[in-house]
Amino acid sequence: MTGLMAGKRGLIMGVANDHSIAWGIAKVLHRHGAELAFTYQGDALGRRVTPLAASLGSDIVLPCDVEDVASVDALFTALDARFPEGLDFVVHAIGFSDKGQLKGRYVDVTTRENFSRTMTISCFSFTEIAQRAAKRMPRGGSLLTLTYGGSTRIMPNYNVMGVAKAALEASVRYLAADLGLSKIRVNAISAGPIKTLAASGIGDFRYILKWNEYNAPLRRTVTIGEVGETAAYLISDMSAGMTGEILHVDAGYHVVGMKNPEAPDLTLDKD
Ligand code: NAD
Repeated sequence: MTGLMAGKRGLIMGVANDHSIAWGIAKVLHRHGAELAFTYQGDALGRRVTPLAASLGSDIVLPCDVEDVASVDALFTALDARFPEGLDFVVHAIGFSDKGQLKGRYVDVTTRENFSRTMTISCFSFTEIAQRAAKRMPRGGSLLTLTYGGSTRIMPNYNVMGVAKAALEASVRYLAADLGLSKIRVNAISAGPIKTLAASGIGDFRYILKWNEYNAPLRRTVTIGEVGETAAYLISDMSAGMTGEILHVDAGYHVVGMKNPEAPDLTLDKD
């Protein structure tokens, strides 16, 4: 343990299980001395998150479904009782879309209802959380969300999630501008593909993983631990001069323009 995060209190949103990116981040922050509170969505996930939180010395495990504003408000009221001095950071690692629309052509499969739902859960929730968290950061703080390269370039089947991530990245910049004078920094990590519960909803995800492994400059995919290390950097004072940033933790894939000539041809292995 280092003192990097000693005395810092924060909220981790988005742990579903021990494969979650939010869990990778929580473990690193804990190792650096942070005190953590967790949210979960629904009782079934709550039963998974409670022992995970306990393993990091936390008994602050609160329900929150970001589709329901009353649930978001109840979360912050409950948090006020546990962290009366306020918050130093929030990790937002939440995303959802109807998986039936994460395969096929975006132009064909996207409905009004799921477009709105995807935007509310995967994009607007970060703004809604930021509005409430900022009021509880009298000393300043750090807000972090998770995005993916499908926001700026086409990835097969990512569809409406790519549109939501583009809006999420734009909201990082607007929030950074608005909250800067309050010494609150707002950043995002653009992670490479990682096998998680959410990712398993994306069509042909194994193909995407394999493609990254063959074509990323580091010739591999990344781990939730690696995302966690970069998250600790963005949340801690080590990145005190940075805000509005989208930092890639993707084994360098975002700089690649064409297939690695030495990579074998991949056939689509249907999930
Ligand atoms: P995950 O399934 O472990 O986590 C997704 C979380 O979102 C879950 O904990 C789920 O409960 C939560 N969530 C969904 N709808 C919610 C709602 N209405 N209210 C509250 N919580 C809700 O998957 P993950 O891959 O760790 O996803 C975390 C974030 O990382 C997401 O924003 C995802 O888009 C992003 N991301 C993932 C990858 C990847 O390849 N896995 C790559 C880049 C970015």
